[in-house]
Amino acid sequence: MWVFGHLGIGSKLAAPFSRRLPYGWVLVGTLLPDLIDKPLYYAAAAITGRRGAEIGLISCTRTFGHTALFLFALAYVAFLRKSKVFAALTIGVATHLVLDGFQDYWIIRVLHESVDGVSSLRLAALWPVFSDHFGNFPYASAAEHLRDSFRSITGVGEAVGAAILGWDYWKNGKRFMPPRWLRRRARI
Ligand SMILES: [Zn+2]
Repeated sequence: MWVFGHLGIGSKLAAPFSRRLPYGWVLVGTLLPDLIDKPLYYAAAAITGRRGAEIGLISCTRTFGHTALFLFALAYVAFLRKSKVFAALTIGVATHLVLDGFQDYWIIRVLHESVDGVSSLRLAALWPVFSDHFGNFPYASAAEHLRDSFRSITGVGEAVGAAILGWDYWKNGKRFMPPRWLRRRARI
């Protein structure tokens, strides 16, 4: 999934656990692993001129931001600082890892009988327990990755997520207000 799948489906998964938390930060959390790892990989690919495992540890778009270690670090900060923002981010990130795992194991692997898509749980979420490296998806650019994704189940996830977001906006548009600090800064 890219954007709408994580935002729409992720925010629904998060809803029972995040009623008293800032909704905007839950949404940021649903995308945060990709906001960290995708630019990291494409920057590394652009700088080195290499792809996938040739680059080294940053071998795909699911690396540090997709680990349980990152999730626990966020949860730890939320707990230590009693921070609702970090709690919201933690729940959002948890949905991201669940959805990536669901996509890999139950959709790509079961429906398409492919083992290529097993990066999210074993190689990323549980890193470095089972391996000292991440997955190897040698995309040269975000555009190539995007083209490939939309030939697969990712497109369905994006459509479902966009429909959920549209439905939520129609029913309860106020929740889509930007966070208060941003409104103050922009005077809106
Ligand atoms: Zn992801």
